[in-house]
Amino acid sequence: MKFRLDAVYVEEQVRTSALCRRVLARLGPEVPVHFVTDGREVARTLDGPDPFAAGKRRLVLMKRRAPFLTACPAASAQFACCGYLVLILASNCPMDCSYCFLQEYLADNPAFQIYTNYEQAFDELERLSRTNPKRHFRIGTGELADSLAFDTLTGICPDLIEFFLRHENLRLELKTKTDEIDNLLRLDPKGRVLVSWTLSPMRVFESCERGTALPSARIEAASRLVEAGYRVAFHLDPIIPYPGAFEDYRELLNALFDAVDPLKISFISLGTLRMTPRLRAIARTRHPQDAILIGGEEVLSPDGRYRPFYPLRLKLYRAISEQIRAAHPKLVHYLCMESPETAERVLGSRVPKPAALGELLATT
Ligand code: SF4
Repeated sequence: MKFRLDAVYVEEQVRTSALCRRVLARLGPEVPVHFVTDGREVARTLDGPDPFAAGKRRLVLMKRRAPFLTACPAASAQFACCGYLVLILASNCPMDCSYCFLQEYLADNPAFQIYTNYEQAFDELERLSRTNPKRHFRIGTGELADSLAFDTLTGICPDLIEFFLRHENLRLELKTKTDEIDNLLRLDPKGRVLVSWTLSPMRVFESCERGTALPSARIEAASRLVEAGYRVAFHLDPIIPYPGAFEDYRELLNALFDAVDPLKISFISLGTLRMTPRLRAIARTRHPQDAILIGGEEVLSPDGRYRPFYPLRLKLYRAISEQIRAAHPKLVHYLCMESPETAERVLGSRVPKPAALGELLATT
């Protein structure tokens, strides 16, 4: 584990759980451990000039009281959705990207929480699999937390992989901005586990993505996992326009396709920067040094989010989509959080309904 923790809080009722024991055994002696009656209280109450940043360094081991399996928080009838389901095993992330939606989403609940009763998630997944035997589902753990950042501490991924391999119609997606793949390299994914990386050009990495692995290190990790029998996918999200962006995204995709055979890539998702007014205000206050973020000239869109000027957005999407098609005409790519009309204008064909796109992405 490369990330710093200031303290660990353990809810009394979970102190004997297997996951709690595992985490406490793996923690260094330098991290103080406190026991509390209700983890929710220490997860919400952080003081100081930047409680969200402080929350990333306060680990709370606690019981999850809500369902683990939910629809993707970005899902909406406004957008051409991909049918993605989210498994919430943890909340918050040790890295700190200036554009991250968690800054708003977790503003009132910022501590880094790991849910020790995660075996209950398997019951929910079991039900989903059993009651929909003819459908396939793509289920990710990387929406409210990075899927791999703390896996050397928690060791959850091996349990997840073992479970998903027993369920033909469930496809696990581990989404990350790290190169923490040692745990995965020790397992046999049988070609059925998907690991995905969010990728950005170097300039975006340097300006916006604090604590993440270098883009080249993410690509290198993907290439090693392909060799080890994993499926891989990439998210170019957020795509940010800035002077030189067209050239930088072109170079990024060139580097990707040089290292990973396009035929071995399950899919690539594309999404330009989008921020609610509140997120934009929080991000600009927390990251005043980020020239790319501060220099952005987004406009308020009909969905209430700031986005790049529409013609520029289309132009960037089209340039990237053309390059993906040139790498391999059948390489699946789709737009995230865009309307079906925008997706059709970029991709040149009717977009499938969420269930159909979900089926495709869960089986490629
Ligand atoms: S890696 Fe992802 S979850 Fe973590 S701070 Fe960056 S955008 Fe947010």
